[in-house]
Amino acid sequence: MDFNIIVIGSGFAGSLAAAALSKIGFRVALIDRGHHPRFAIGESSTPTANLVLRDIAKRYGLEKLEPLTRYGTWRNTYPDTTCGLKRGFSYFHHDLDHPFQPFDDHRNELVVAASRSDAVSDTHWLRADVDQLFATIAAESGAVGMFDREIRQVARVGSAWKLVVADRDGQIETATAEFLVDASGRGGVLQKQLGLPDRTQHLAARSRAIYTHVAPAPSWTGQLEKLGGRVADHPFHADHAAQHHLFANGWWWLLPFDDGTCSVGLARQMNALPSTGAESTPVEEIRHWLERLPTLHTLLEPTSLRDVPGRWIDSGRLQHRVGLIAGPGYALLPHAAGFVDPLHSTGIAHSLCGLERLLLVLEQTWGKPELADQLARYAAQVDAELDLIDRIVDCGYGSLDHFELFVATTMLYFAGATGFERRRDPRNPSQTLFLCAQLSDWQDLVRRAHEAIRGPGGVGRGNQDPKRLAEALCDWLQPFNHVGLCDKSLQNMYGQTAAEM
Ligand SMILES: Cc1cc2nc3c(=O)[nH]c(=O)nc-3n(C[C@H](O)[C@H](O)[C@H](O)COP(=O)(O)OP(=O)(O)OC[C@H]3O[C@@H](n4cnc5c(N)ncnc54)[C@H](O)[C@@H]3O)c2cc1C
Repeated sequence: MDFNIIVIGSGFAGSLAAAALSKIGFRVALIDRGHHPRFAIGESSTPTANLVLRDIAKRYGLEKLEPLTRYGTWRNTYPDTTCGLKRGFSYFHHDLDHPFQPFDDHRNELVVAASRSDAVSDTHWLRADVDQLFATIAAESGAVGMFDREIRQVARVGSAWKLVVADRDGQIETATAEFLVDASGRGGVLQKQLGLPDRTQHLAARSRAIYTHVAPAPSWTGQLEKLGGRVADHPFHADHAAQHHLFANGWWWLLPFDDGTCSVGLARQMNALPSTGAESTPVEEIRHWLERLPTLHTLLEPTSLRDVPGRWIDSGRLQHRVGLIAGPGYALLPHAAGFVDPLHSTGIAHSLCGLERLLLVLEQTWGKPELADQLARYAAQVDAELDLIDRIVDCGYGSLDHFELFVATTMLYFAGATGFERRRDPRNPSQTLFLCAQLSDWQDLVRRAHEAIRGPGGVGRGNQDPKRLAEALCDWLQPFNHVGLCDKSLQNMYGQTAAEM
């Protein structure tokens, strides 16, 4: 019970941290309040996540993880670990109280390829299966797993940490470590135990989600075809995507898995009108919005809840953010440090980017005077990434009612993501932050776009013409546009954006 490093939380990120740190040679414990398998949300991966996972797996001799970075190798190597095929992102704008109406010029659709073929494609992760696999690999790498443990106390004793933990029967154990990695996500273990400041008010996005798993997975492309949509123009089969179905003040996600499960969620701006009333339950709210979105209603009506989780879960406000992300003897992984929103699937990739940098810091500066400076640098980087994600996501929420402008705001995300993929040097991951958050002129551009949408003189207050702003945004984006984004001739069908894997 005497460790170099204790990792708190065994989501995929905590388990990966424990596995890699064990491979470096640290004595590592992995503590979780639950055990595997268990339901978890956060399922849609991206090329950025695949690139970083592949490089972490290579660097730390975790070869078993490499097949998970491509759909083809995943299916061949781990047929019992459920995933879904994700060729890219798709967005469809629905008018409330009207069936979805497709147009020949795809003016209310956006389909963006992220992978070149099914074999090298991205994936949706069924987290119950995937997190279990990561936890198994952590154990095989030497990390000591402590599951179903409640952390009662975290105390600093000299330069070490003493953790008091209780098992399900209330049996108390004590564990000590020189360093703590908080991978507890929303559980916020170190925030609570160390009294770290709450910085949620520094996030612009304000949204909440209601989500579950249903079956059988519905086919949006089939539905669209019935409505006369030109699905042959899509650069890939648009069911194989992180599907976003937008409406005036929110959006639904649909993520189909290969076993017939579909992750379904409704994310809405908080305090946005019209509301169903404060007293409504998650089920009533879902029913209300499906009644107002007839095509989604038709699509989801034949489905029923899967046994797990077996209910609609209400996230409450999705955003959280913590100050003092790292300090003497501890560091928070990105999802413990903050989270914005599922829009554009930033969570998994952000977690992996932050983890990769933290692993290098611990590997290279453990026991050296530079450790403190490197941890401060890590904290500043995660903060810069959260600021960027927040503004890009909030630009999206601020333009949900103007699809042309919404499309332009997605180009911010795609420029950041494809810029990362092109610039990234795996030998020096700290040089390129998630979504290129290290570039000050890029951060300035996104700040300017956010101001133009959400600021006092912006679209949200009726002070800007959304169409004109969409064009202006695309002009501003040119220095960062390396994959042909904002190309009107493509009529919102982007096939050339796919990553090299
Ligand atoms: C509604 C929603 C939808 C999302 N969709 C996406 C998406 O499509 N794509 C994407 O990339 N990201 C998405 N995310 C973000 C994604 O969920 C996170 O980025 C990801 O889960 C981070 O993984 P993690 O391992 O760091 O933390 P988590 O997955 O949050 O794991 C935390 C672990 O800590 C444990 N823990 C918590 N409290 C304690 C405690 N007190 N003591 C011990 N252990 C504890 C938990 O049991 C859990 O095992 C979404 C998030 C939400 C909320």
